[in-house]
Amino acid sequence: VKNNSKNAFKAVLFDLDNTLVDFARMKERACDAGIRAMRSHGLRMPFASAKRALFRLYCEHGIENKNIFQIFLARELGRVDYKLLSNAIVAYRKQENDFLEPYAGTRETLALLRKRGVALAIVTDAPRLRAWNRLAAMGLTRYFDFVITIADTKRRKPHAAPFALALKKLSLEKTPERVLFVGDSPGRDMAGAKRAGMRTCLARYGMRGWRTIAWRSLKSSFVEARAASKLARSHSDFANLAVRKRIRPDFVIDGFRELAKIV
Ligand SMILES: [Mg+2]
Repeated sequence: VKNNSKNAFKAVLFDLDNTLVDFARMKERACDAGIRAMRSHGLRMPFASAKRALFRLYCEHGIENKNIFQIFLARELGRVDYKLLSNAIVAYRKQENDFLEPYAGTRETLALLRKRGVALAIVTDAPRLRAWNRLAAMGLTRYFDFVITIADTKRRKPHAAPFALALKKLSLEKTPERVLFVGDSPGRDMAGAKRAGMRTCLARYGMRGWRTIAWRSLKSSFVEARAASKLARSHSDFANLAVRKRIRPDFVIDGFRELAKIV
């Protein structure tokens, strides 16, 4: 990490999921809660086996799959037991809503940057209300001057539109190099921001979450470990070294607090 206080950034733009929101941690907690709820309503399966089975299904069907408990029950019991299903979904959602957490040091660091007079904003591909809800759930809405979502430009990163809109709102179109973009995705965040003339900071900690959780849940066999890696890759392009090398972020951080040294 380059430590250079002469950067004089006027603004810092953030991606949301896996940059501010510790999405992987929430997901694991929510899955644990779902499994516990099914077990307390009659699922006869050891916790660890159920968790392994669930994550194996995420590997097959994608980590964002919304019907994972249906698939799980169909696979494990041969039918969807609605008592188990609804209890799992309710327990999962409760965790999702109540225990969304920012990464360690996020609030302090955002407050510090604001105190230094740096403008802060979000550029996310998430739907507008979902993005705001996530920020509100973490108690972070107060730190940001604006939030750009998919609703604003109808274009996803790395398309130029959301980055251009952010520069316009900041009135920094002429000096994009005074803007730092922080995100976990080399292909979407780093590539798009660089093309817009901004400087880039890769939130490497955000790319590790899935890997860690997938490995922890599935480490029972080599085949599963490979599936876990595939899952991690499919969610974030971390392992795509070609992409990383081509893009070369200006900064790389392994924790949110490191931002205070860069900005
Ligand atoms: Mg992200």
